Amino acid sequence: MGRSTTLSDSEEGASFDFIVIGGGTNGLTAASYLSKQGQRVLLVERQNYLGGGAITQDLTLQGFHHDVFATSINSWRTGPVQQDLELEKYGYHDVDPDPVAATPFKSGKTLAIYRDLNKTSNHLVSNAFLQRGFIGTTHSSTLAQCTTISRT
Ligand SMILES: Cc1cc2nc3c(=O)[nH]c(=O)nc-3n(C[C@H](O)[C@H](O)[C@H](O)COP(=O)(O)OP(=O)(O)OC[C@H]3O[C@@H](n4cnc5c(N)ncnc54)[C@H](O)[C@@H]3O)c2cc1C
Repeated sequence: MGRSTTLSDSEEGASFDFIVIGGGTNGLTAASYLSKQGQRVLLVERQNYLGGGAITQDLTLQGFHHDVFATSINSWRTGPVQQDLELEKYGYHDVDPDPVAATPFKSGKTLAIYRDLNKTSNHLVSNAFLQRGFIGTTHSSTLAQCTTISRT
């Protein structure tokens, strides 16, 4: 794995047990499991990079890094792939940013969601996204529940 070039002369005419089309997370995962089972696998990717939608790219402005299509990694964390394929050995690690998400506006304001509920509430109020009174007991407790659920 790891190469996304054309076949070399020595590989042309070689036979494979499986050909996987697409080097996104699903193709890479399938090909890796097959390879671990001793199968001879050819993975074909049309781009000059691997990862499909689960990569980081400068989607808006140069130097501003965005995840293309892999925002929430909670279910990924509970799955067996990282351990099965020993991804950390190959440089994989989780990133837990704070703020978790942020949206800049042309007006210069930024809407940010932090790990800490109070910090998020204060930010939303001080940037006039919410009025202070809006985050009453009900909303605070609902938000707190959401935060608790997302942490379990
Ligand atoms: C950690 C993680 C977090 C995620 N978080 C989210 C999330 O928050 N929200 C969400 O909706 N999804 C999320 N996902 C899902 C994920 O981003 C997409 O579902 C995933 O990209 C789909 O993977 P895929 O391999 O099926 O397809 P893709 O990622 O689309 O990859 C397909 C690949 O096939 C290649 N290809 C296509 N046609 C050909 C061809 N004819 N020949 C050669 N190559 C070809 C493409 O270039 C591409 O590289 C997450 C996934 C992960 C792993």
